[in-house]
Amino acid sequence: MRRSKKIILSCHCLLNQNARAQTVAKRPGVVPEFVAWCVRRGYGIVPLGCPQLLFEPLKRKPATKETYSNEQARAACRKIVHEVLHQTRLYRKAGYEVVGIMGVEGSPTCGAVRTHVLKNGTSVSVRERGIFFEELDKALKRASMKLPIMDWDIQVKKPIFSN
Ligand code: SF4
Repeated sequence: MRRSKKIILSCHCLLNQNARAQTVAKRPGVVPEFVAWCVRRGYGIVPLGCPQLLFEPLKRKPATKETYSNEQARAACRKIVHEVLHQTRLYRKAGYEVVGIMGVEGSPTCGAVRTHVLKNGTSVSVRERGIFFEELDKALKRASMKLPIMDWDIQVKKPIFSN
C-alpha cells in the first residue's frame, strides 16, 4: 500500500472523549467527524497524551483557563509539547508532510484558537490560546519551527484555523 505521507497531530480527547472533564464530553468515544475528516484527506493521526490527566483525576470538574495557569499544569503541558516537537521532527526528517496539530475548541488547556476564561464569575468563550498551546507557541519559537495550528469545533464538525 502506498503511504500518503501526510500526518496530523491530534489532542488526546478527539480520539477519546472519555478523558474529558465531567459533563463536557460531546461524543461517547472518538469524535467520528474529526476522524472522517482525516480519512477523507488520507491523513495518519498521531495521538498525543492528555495534559490534564498527567496531574488530575479522570473524574474532575470543568474549569476555565485561570485554573490551569500555574506551574504544575504548564509543566505537564510541556511534556506533551516535547512529544509534539519530537514527532514533527521525526516525520519531517523522513520526508513526510506534517499538516498541523488539532486542538480542542474551547478547552482551557487544549483550545488552540478559542478557550474559556472567567469574566464576572462566569465562564465565557474567548479567542485566545489555552495553556498547552501557549507552551507550544513558546517551544516552537525557541526551536525556530513552524507548525500549522487549528481547533476542531465539535459543534460545527469542522476545524477553525489560527491566524
Ligand atoms: S486536557 Fe486536552 S486532551 Fe485532555 S481532556 Fe482536556 S482538551 Fe482533551
